[in-house]
Amino acid sequence: MGKFDKYKIDLKGMQADSCKYEFVLDNLFFANIDGPEVQKGKVNVELVVRKTSRAFELNFQTDGMVWVPCDRCLDDMEQPVSSTDKLLVKFGHEYAEEGENLIVIPEDEGIINVAWFMYEFVALAIPMKHVHAPGKCNKAMSSKLRKHLRTTPDEEEEDAFIPEDDVLTEEETETPIDPRWNELKKILDNN
Ligand SMILES: [Zn+2]
Repeated sequence: MGKFDKYKIDLKGMQADSCKYEFVLDNLFFANIDGPEVQKGKVNVELVVRKTSRAFELNFQTDGMVWVPCDRCLDDMEQPVSSTDKLLVKFGHEYAEEGENLIVIPEDEGIINVAWFMYEFVALAIPMKHVHAPGKCNKAMSSKLRKHLRTTPDEEEEDAFIPEDDVLTEEETETPIDPRWNELKKILDNN
């Protein structure tokens, strides 16, 4: 059995007019799918498939938590995700994505694998800007990053909103407390 076999929905073999599936997307799922946005998480997906005269309607309700790097300090942070998405699936000669959520699958197979679609729904549910709650950032990292990113007007403006307890004293900035600081420094020095 392949890693993603359990996400195959047999539309052709569907007996009832409506069918319900539940999936839990866990760390193993995200590791297997190996997408760029999410590597870890625990997300529940409820999928209701409805057969209509012209197509299959797949309604996904996605709720859970993913761990993604914080924009400000790069440490992982918990990001709640919640999304409602719909796919329409029709039978045709060969696989095609027609428009944003209309999928054509070969009629002789009649099966759609929803693993990647579910991954995309999760990835798209992550807000563009995601940061730790005030004061929860890795202080050494965020301070270094701020200094090096302080080149665009946008960043200058955002600095104004950083709560005071996020700002470091001189002493703290002199002490690299996180081993990743060295890795970051290497990257920054090379640029
Ligand atoms: Zn942070």
